[in-house]
Amino acid sequence: MFKTKLATKSHPNHVNPVSISDNVCFGQEEIVIIAGPCAVESWEQMENVARQMNSAPVQALRGGAFKPRTSPYSFQGLGLEGLEILSGISKKYKMPVVTEVMSIEQIEAVASHADMLQVGSRNMQNFDLLKALGQANKPILLKRGLAATLEEFVGAAEYILSEGNSQVVLCERGIRSFDNYTRNVLDLGAVVALKQITCLPVIVDPSHAAGRRELIEPLAKAAIAAGADGLIIECHPHPNESVSDANQALSLEEMVNLAYNLEPIAVAVGRCLSVPANSLLAA
Ligand code: PEP
Ligand code: MN
Repeated sequence: MFKTKLATKSHPNHVNPVSISDNVCFGQEEIVIIAGPCAVESWEQMENVARQMNSAPVQALRGGAFKPRTSPYSFQGLGLEGLEILSGISKKYKMPVVTEVMSIEQIEAVASHADMLQVGSRNMQNFDLLKALGQANKPILLKRGLAATLEEFVGAAEYILSEGNSQVVLCERGIRSFDNYTRNVLDLGAVVALKQITCLPVIVDPSHAAGRRELIEPLAKAAIAAGADGLIIECHPHPNESVSDANQALSLEEMVNLAYNLEPIAVAVGRCLSVPANSLLAA
């Protein structure tokens, strides 16, 4: 078994719920859906996203301000300006926001603008960053490394927990394999295993797993059926104009429909999805 203490379940029903706002909590009966663009591009873009997601069963917004890109010549994110857009939109629409932190130096700024700090796949084993986040007073969304074993993944979470931060959510986002039809391979077996082994909530990112928009809704449904506690999904007001990850961006209409279409699956596995009172589709 893994050399973990705090991440390990102490009894079969042991779950450590993680709250990111007064009414958004991972690891309980309710499925949490996080939606938004790959990168924050402008106030108008984020406002458009927030307005539509606010009237759908979507509880939190995403958007990268600091972007880990394969090429140094690709768009690197709006940085501090992106963080300010996120916190402004969060206040205006009363929706918590999740964004990536890439280095120890960024923690203070990101923590003062976001409700949850994301550690990207490329940083999953940046142990100094994990230890520093263990001392931050903010929930952490830890994404699985591009080719990380479950032992390495849970070990990375343990680094954060062992420094005193008990607010960690794991995210399966696909792993590298030999086929290049999909961007990565979504490992739903890992979701089931992590739910059995650890007390941490587990969510799924079908966007980075698939890399193709037409695969996202079926994979999101499969993730909920497999026991995931939530989803993080990329969407954009003009998907094809997305500055990064355009092929996997859903339109806002597709994102709203996807969220509603998850409800029967959630109910079938004993979970629920909260439909906002101001929803156009609500009864
Ligand atoms: C992201 O969520 O924006 C991202 C870069 O994902 P990952 O770290 O999983 O590649
Ligand atoms: Mn992306």
